[in-house]
Amino acid sequence: MSLLLGSHLPLSAPSYFLGTARLAKAYGESAAMFYTGAPQNTLRVPLSKMMIEEGSALMDEGGIPPSSRLVHAPYIVNLANRSDPDKLKRMETFLLEEMDRAFSFGSSLLVLHPGSHLGAGEEEGTRNLLLSLEETLRKESPVVIALETMAGKGGELASTLEGMKKIIEGFSRPERLAVCLDTCHLFDAGYDVSDLPGLKGEIERTIGLHRVKAIHLNDSKNPRGSHKDRHANIGQGYIGFDALCAWAHDPDFASVPKILETPYFEGKAPYKKEIEMLRNSSYDPDFLKKL
Ligand code: FE
Ligand code: FE
Ligand code: ZN
Repeated sequence: MSLLLGSHLPLSAPSYFLGTARLAKAYGESAAMFYTGAPQNTLRVPLSKMMIEEGSALMDEGGIPPSSRLVHAPYIVNLANRSDPDKLKRMETFLLEEMDRAFSFGSSLLVLHPGSHLGAGEEEGTRNLLLSLEETLRKESPVVIALETMAGKGGELASTLEGMKKIIEGFSRPERLAVCLDTCHLFDAGYDVSDLPGLKGEIERTIGLHRVKAIHLNDSKNPRGSHKDRHANIGQGYIGFDALCAWAHDPDFASVPKILETPYFEGKAPYKKEIEMLRNSSYDPDFLKKL
């Protein structure tokens, strides 16, 4: 089976999902992730305008089946803080709508940042998040929420595997939750991403490898444990190409879509080259200059 590799893609006017699918094809992707609108707000264009059928058909044809399509919830959704009840209610409602929207694009996996406790402490933040998840996931849906491991800046929850474990174990319906591992976030949180067998062992002991349903494959601009969360291009950061390549080819993660969220270089998307290098296990240190 070929590697499930893709990138974070735009979903924007005028061709929306058809445009997303065309980019995925141009970059040689076999997986894809997108926001259903701007990540910093909750305004959404009606689905009827998004060219979903056309985009879906092109993705099916190009080898990106629904199981390899991921939606990322906007990062402003913070369910770990309950200081503004009205806002929280709006966010919970939005998340419910977002699950429906994700499914309209064929996706049954919605990646969500577990949120930030904003100084109230991890325990209270976790309690808050769980209250919201119980409320939101009461409604039946084919969509599973994949909670993302975080770098630990500004009171972020799930910046340790133990923290993630507490969230999952504290939830009444853990089958509705999955985990999205972000290599940059894990590394910035202090984990040795280059020791994949060791880290997989730790994942198995805490959250369980079976819960990993998505991977964000990013290098990091900062050294291990920096808690910064700044993504670097593949091989251009402190994690390095060999370590990331091992993740891409790991047999335990063969069925898990791996998504690049690496930065553009001089206005150009790096994904075609990054995916090629990972597929071929061969690194070109000058690839950014050849985009
Ligand atoms: Fe994310
Ligand atoms: Fe990520
Ligand atoms: Zn990040």
